[in-house]
Amino acid sequence: MIKKQIAILGSTGSIGTQALEVIGANPDRFAVAVLTAQSNVDLLITQALKFNPACVVIADDSKYAQLKSALAHTQIEVKAGLNALCECVLLPQITVVLTALVGFAGLKPTIAAIKAGKHIALANKETLVVAGQLITQLSTEYGVKILPVDSEHSAIFQCLQGEEHNPIEKIYLTASGGPFRGRNIEFLSEVTPQQALKHPNWTMGAKITIDSATLMNKGLEVIEAKWLFNLEAAQIDVIVHPQSIVHSMVQFTDGSMKAQMGLPDMKLPIQYALAYPERIKNDFKRFSFLDYPALTFEQADTQTFKNLDLAFTALKQGGNMPCILNAANEVVVANFLEEKIGFLQMSEVIETCMAKIAYLKNPVLEDYYKTDAETRIFAQQLVTNI
Ligand code: NDP
Ligand code: MG
Repeated sequence: MIKKQIAILGSTGSIGTQALEVIGANPDRFAVAVLTAQSNVDLLITQALKFNPACVVIADDSKYAQLKSALAHTQIEVKAGLNALCECVLLPQITVVLTALVGFAGLKPTIAAIKAGKHIALANKETLVVAGQLITQLSTEYGVKILPVDSEHSAIFQCLQGEEHNPIEKIYLTASGGPFRGRNIEFLSEVTPQQALKHPNWTMGAKITIDSATLMNKGLEVIEAKWLFNLEAAQIDVIVHPQSIVHSMVQFTDGSMKAQMGLPDMKLPIQYALAYPERIKNDFKRFSFLDYPALTFEQADTQTFKNLDLAFTALKQGGNMPCILNAANEVVVANFLEEKIGFLQMSEVIETCMAKIAYLKNPVLEDYYKTDAETRIFAQQLVTNI
């Protein structure tokens, strides 16, 4: 069997480490070509020594010397800095690039990977939120697949297998509702980052965990779904499903619905994206209906959690509006984690940015960089003045 050579951008994170578990369990199918981290050099060294990639990259170049000396006795090429993230995906042996880094930082390396003809296993949803039109155009132009890793999108993608010629009427993205489901504004005005970081069903990186608590994660996923499955906003619905067992649903034009189900474990969608189109036997814990006698569904509370509506607004306006939404969100989440703003103020700052930053109907790549930079400065000023 020819092994798939995988590059993991963000190998030290929640998705990255789980991807390495999947790869480690299937050494006959997968090999690691590239591993990258922002600054967690100790874990990157451990991973590199175990998986022996051709190249490792540490984005924070102050950690280069430590990485280089720890791997000096190996054949592994060691690089540092943001440009190296774009260079490492060009290695000829790579077949799939798993984008498991956080935020807007994923945009540039994802474009580099697509232009080099690499298939993308996409966890880094922010890239599609910011520049979905450009990314999907490029993927068509360069003939590469964008394979979703996000559990909801993997669910929809799995439901669509064998349905290539059947139009979608609607999709239903399920949401757990996060740790504050059912809470009111009064309660939310007092919540701390520690409370928000306790997700009921998933263990994830800090940024997406906060996004889940504010429902921005679902908002970003609505925009992600638009681009992955070529849908209009009106075809995308969100339904709160606290047990996180039904990972999402597709409704076809005859009214029939398909759902994909399983325990909440990201290793399954990661494995599906890496092994696609095959399914690999594994020993992940199986779902039992008797452990979950009640699967429940309810409307999302968008009066209290405003971010979901903000994301729908950005999707409908299009242009650079999702880029503004995303940049403002990255700034407020970082500030909330540092306890510089409250939970509810996050939506206020995002909304102000969406109203004030110059709207561009038909942005090109450069415009996204400008919009992102401009929004970050403005959002940070708003935070400072609170
Ligand atoms: P983590 O914060 O756990 O990990 C992020 C990884 O990217 C780490 O390896 C980190 O390095 C690296 N990184 C962070 N910022 C940068 C940067 N600016 N430049 C280069 N590398 C960087 O995040 P998650 O794994 O939770 O999430 C990754 C992506 O996957 C996000 O877009 C998220 O929305 C998406 N996703 C995650 C899910 C999950 O279950 N975690 C589910 C669905 C989607 P270091 O460790 O050195 O900081
Ligand atoms: Mg998700």
